[in-house]
Amino acid sequence: MSDSDKVEKFPCSNCGADLEFKPGTSSLVCPYCQTENTIESSEETIIEEKDFAETLLKLKNQEANEETVDMIVTKCDTCGAEVSLGENQTGGECAFCGAAIVAQGKSEKVLKPESLLPFKVTKNEAAANFKTWLKKRWFAPKQLKQYARVDGLKGIYSPFWTFDSDTETSYSGQRGDYYYTTESYTTTEDGKSVTKTRQVRHTRWRSASGHVCNNFDDILVHASDRMEQKYVDELEPWDLENLAPFNTSYLPGFQVESYSIDLEGGLDIAKDKMASEINYSIRNDIGGDEQRITSKSTSYDNLKFKHILLPVWMSAYNFKGKVYQFMVNARTGEVQGTRPYSAGKIAAAIIIPLVIIAGAVILIKMYG
Ligand SMILES: [Zn+2]
Ligand SMILES: [Zn+2]
Repeated sequence: MSDSDKVEKFPCSNCGADLEFKPGTSSLVCPYCQTENTIESSEETIIEEKDFAETLLKLKNQEANEETVDMIVTKCDTCGAEVSLGENQTGGECAFCGAAIVAQGKSEKVLKPESLLPFKVTKNEAAANFKTWLKKRWFAPKQLKQYARVDGLKGIYSPFWTFDSDTETSYSGQRGDYYYTTESYTTTEDGKSVTKTRQVRHTRWRSASGHVCNNFDDILVHASDRMEQKYVDELEPWDLENLAPFNTSYLPGFQVESYSIDLEGGLDIAKDKMASEINYSIRNDIGGDEQRITSKSTSYDNLKFKHILLPVWMSAYNFKGKVYQFMVNARTGEVQGTRPYSAGKIAAAIIIPLVIIAGAVILIKMYG
């Protein structure tokens, strides 16, 4: 093993055991003797955004030594998720699919995260929120509670990209303005044919072209395809204004997920997100009552990015051959996830009222 393959250790000053980061604090705590060690804050407090094109070129030419770090990652054979487990974690269940994984680490060169949001919500708080969430789900199968075990919750630092860019877009399209004409028409009233008038709306289309500028700051893109994207989106908002410069002291006790969507793939997703705002600007620029955009071309200037880690309490369980994930935003405590439906409970909810109505109808007919 080379030096870079070694996972940084944080031994307890009292008993030598591996410390863990204590959510909601800026301390590492010993899980055995409860001794707390404060994290020394690094001098560097400005989080730098990196130039996209420059970094990409360095990565392609394998010159991005300063920007990358060697990480020991363990891969789940079932779902392909890659995480770095940390010194005191040895496999167990995969947080993303619930399958058993064996900690067989391999070294991988990845882009260094610049910053992260430390865990704020504790495992117990996350578990309590999940239980409450589960209770509110109607039609969940009775056995679900034994499968959706809260002790299976794992703290994951999930990878994200953020992108900034000043964009300029040339477009051509059409502007539609409404105008009205009066038309006469014939109808039948009281058996008689009468002629009446009405206002009819038309659209006059004229060609339109121009250019718009949009500035984007911190467009957030999840850099992992191992979590159900719509639930990850619903975990927002994240208090990105509180991002802390990356420091390995925040990691003990948690897993760090490797990004499965790379920098270029991340930018494609960010461009899709930017496109809806650009289209809005174009429509505004065209004006009128309706707009058509026939072509547009966008240049992305000052394209910068950050690689950040956001904290999620996460668990997955297999229920009747299907994988269900749930996740808790470890900054706000918000729960999102999928759950199975009980066919029996749904059928009962439909059939029981029908039986009651049918019973009532019979009683009314007999005695009414
Ligand atoms: Zn200790
Ligand atoms: Zn897995």
